[in-house]
Amino acid sequence: MTPDVVTMDKIVSLCKRRGFVFPSSEIYGGIGSSYDYGHYGVLLKNNVKAQWWRALLQERDDVVALDSAIIQHPRTWEASGHLAGFTDPLVDCRFCKKRFRADKLEDGVCGQKPSKKPGETSDCDLTEARNFNLMFQTTVGPVQDEGATVYLRPETAQGIFLNFKQYLQFARKKPPFGIAQIGKSFRNEITPGNFIFRTREFEQMEMEFFVPPDEAQKWHEHWLAERYDWYIRLGIRRDHLRLRAHEQDELSHYSSATSDVEYLYPIGWQELEGVANRGNFDLTQHAEYSRQNLEYVDTVSGDRYIPHVIEPAAGADRAMLAFLVDAYDEDEIEGEARTVLRLHPQLAPVKAAVLPLVKKDGQPELAREIEHVLRERFQVEYDEGGAIGRRYRRQDEIGTPWAITVDHQSLTDRTVTIRDRDSLAQERVAVDALPGLLEERLRAPWQSPKPGD
Ligand code: ATP
Repeated sequence: MTPDVVTMDKIVSLCKRRGFVFPSSEIYGGIGSSYDYGHYGVLLKNNVKAQWWRALLQERDDVVALDSAIIQHPRTWEASGHLAGFTDPLVDCRFCKKRFRADKLEDGVCGQKPSKKPGETSDCDLTEARNFNLMFQTTVGPVQDEGATVYLRPETAQGIFLNFKQYLQFARKKPPFGIAQIGKSFRNEITPGNFIFRTREFEQMEMEFFVPPDEAQKWHEHWLAERYDWYIRLGIRRDHLRLRAHEQDELSHYSSATSDVEYLYPIGWQELEGVANRGNFDLTQHAEYSRQNLEYVDTVSGDRYIPHVIEPAAGADRAMLAFLVDAYDEDEIEGEARTVLRLHPQLAPVKAAVLPLVKKDGQPELAREIEHVLRERFQVEYDEGGAIGRRYRRQDEIGTPWAITVDHQSLTDRTVTIRDRDSLAQERVAVDALPGLLEERLRAPWQSPKPGD
């Protein structure tokens, strides 16, 4: 196995070449940091989201689902503190005319050549930092008056708080319980970049877990461990994942404690997911602004309280990027270079490729038959074009864990070979055993064969 060879450029180029993710609006010259997801990108991100739902909804019974509106009542953002406080400090350079985030100058690239960090050259002339609100504003209805100003949500969380009271009733839940949601969020980031790591529209996977106040600490620790394990179970190498507690001066306006799950991207250790203890900040604020009582009342004990909230907040795109980076590998097979995505089989966009060795002698017909049977249970692909080695490599590049080859012998004894993307081992199995075999392999625990642990 080769040492870790991945760079962000290699990921960007593979994603474009194989149609996972590519710049948006290219026929008009593109629009900075806006991306479209192609076929394999959609399949991969869907698998990431499906695993998240699975961990929260199917594997436990104390979390329920929600899909709330993107445009919510504008008072939401007054109550939540976003209108006043969801800002980043912005500085302009009077010399090169570029803009930077004042708190991330070390990540900025100055407009001069050779490029330096903003403020590093004697020509750099940075303004004082001023606060810039990251919410996108728009107008609802035909009249552009103040009453019609609304915002695209910068986080999915608030939709959950607005529905807390309803869920106490129709979900018949009592704390501790959670409401989970996946959806698009929008932030007018000052410096988007690093491919899909930071964009202005992105998908979040957030869950608000409502608990009795004296249990908040315990549940914060529980969710940190759960979320860390989720990435490990899906194959992220342990030495590329860590938990980091926020310093006091990093905490958001609503948070009393936050720890980030960080991944070692090619750009260094960066936040993949935040797990925050939001206290009772949000429900208290919404109770005040809406004049609704958002207390939980225990009908048995008579206890009443505003629950505290533990929030694991992940980005679906950032998670997908971490899985891609962790999976990317290069090696050599019989003197030929190959790029391979060593993705967890559950995440792989395509689970199996069905390949007739030659395009004649009844092999395509049998391969099609196998494809149709497998298609009922898995995402599969049929490919008969080109030399078999090239077809294997095409599948390796999109992370397909198993290639099923129909050959001359298949027609006499209804067996096929199954080739493993990582070990390259080929074994002969009966056609009729294939669905069960693949099911079993998909369910088996999996570890990345890349170096690291
Ligand atoms: P950062 O410090 O990187 O700006 P944040 O702390 O503001 O992130 P949160 O508000 O905690 O992020 O959002 C939860 C998750 O949503 C993040 O961990 C990340 O995975 C994702 N996320 C946030 N902003 C973006 C973005 N601009 N592009 C892609 N994903 C994002």
